[in-house]
Amino acid sequence: MTYVLPQLKYAFDALEKSIDAKTMEIHHDKHHQAYVDNLNKALESHPELKDKDLEELLSNIDLLPEDIRMAVRNNGGGHWNHTFFWDILSPDFQNYEVKEGSKLHDMIQKYFGTYEEFTTQFKNAALSRFGSGWVWLVKMSEGSLKIISTPNQDNPLMSVSEIQGKPVLGLDVWEHAYYLRYQNRRADYVDAFWNIVNWSKVEELLG
Ligand code: MN
Repeated sequence: MTYVLPQLKYAFDALEKSIDAKTMEIHHDKHHQAYVDNLNKALESHPELKDKDLEELLSNIDLLPEDIRMAVRNNGGGHWNHTFFWDILSPDFQNYEVKEGSKLHDMIQKYFGTYEEFTTQFKNAALSRFGSGWVWLVKMSEGSLKIISTPNQDNPLMSVSEIQGKPVLGLDVWEHAYYLRYQNRRADYVDAFWNIVNWSKVEELLG
């Protein structure tokens, strides 16, 4: 299979109150496109992997041929992570809260106490990620929720991830995701993120 850059479901300027249009454009059209191109290039030399889907490749990183293992980890991870990220963002204000009585609301209370405590822990994970990486809310196999952070383009689906589980929310904390507007103020970017989360999508991913 040849991987292709997915189209955004909203305009570059639709998330302007939290992420500026120029950042969205470069992030999607240049950064994400590069991960897609480099993933396709890496897989060219291994046609036996052509029919595997991306999640299968990522969850078996350590079994991949050594000559493309790092390229698939970085670029396959980059493609999966960004596709996921665009999907859990929304310009629709209807989605901007965790609805009381929802499954997500109950689970946040159960595992973090309050929504405020959850966002505080998520922010701390974002700020303590040194260099580039991601912060995730992960549904563990036994059903609990956990906040974890991964370096570079790693994610919790990968066999190489310290903690494995199903991502239901993720935040890109690479500088390319926020530098034009926020420069060194990663904390402000994390605060602004809460205004554009598509909680309906997160709830759907909870299953
Ligand atoms: Mn990114």
